[in-house]
Amino acid sequence: MADRRKLAAGNWKMNGVAEHLAMVGALADSHGQARSEVLICPPATLVHRLAEAAQGTAIAVGGQDCHWEETGAHTGDTSAAMLADAGASYVIVGHSERRADHAEGDETVRAKTRAAWDAGLAAIVCVGETLAERKASNTIDIIGGQLAGSIPDQATGLNLVVAYEPVWAIGTGEVATPDQIGEVHDEIRRRLEKRFGPGVGRSVRIVYGGSVKPANAAEVFAVENVDGALVGGASLKAEDFGGIIEALDAS
Ligand code: PEP
Repeated sequence: MADRRKLAAGNWKMNGVAEHLAMVGALADSHGQARSEVLICPPATLVHRLAEAAQGTAIAVGGQDCHWEETGAHTGDTSAAMLADAGASYVIVGHSERRADHAEGDETVRAKTRAAWDAGLAAIVCVGETLAERKASNTIDIIGGQLAGSIPDQATGLNLVVAYEPVWAIGTGEVATPDQIGEVHDEIRRRLEKRFGPGVGRSVRIVYGGSVKPANAAEVFAVENVDGALVGGASLKAEDFGGIIEALDAS
């Protein structure tokens, strides 16, 4: 495998108030020495406080979304530059909940990815098929289209992480099988290498997301081309997220 540092990324979604910051200290105590990179993406209201709580630890902080512009008349939105200013080093873009709830298409995701890079953030670009698309045998075409449309040309192994998140596996308790994950991750790797060249294509991390828990993490991480996980529900408790980090370290 190319020299890719594994990544355990937690997506708290719209969960978390000040009292949940205690989880960061607990995680730093128990897993601060992890070989894998550990990232928490709290709601925007907590990015700054979580970055302060994580100071001096190995835990990185990210946003869950950003606007494509740096400043302006966009009530309620947060720019990538603001996230960076608050202490973030990553931002998730194109999560299926954003694509569905806010009608975000690939062009928007691409603009947000570019904005993230302009602000010095690494972008975690999410792709994934719905159950109907999988049943219609369209998975590879859908993923290919999202990759081509959502990622700008200037990708590197440092500024980009791709998250494969089958929509039907997010928050459902139904994790994709190793074969399903392997088929899509291999295809993503092939397409990254073809578009960006073997050097960049092999250095971009591809993480899986969709109901990853301590109990199934080892099986997921044993799959070729799985460089970590984007974790929703199980990232809210230090014990569960810690179990996933341990499985990743051991893989
Ligand atoms: C996610 O929100 O990116 C996710 C993978 O959620 P969960 O782990 O809860 O399925």
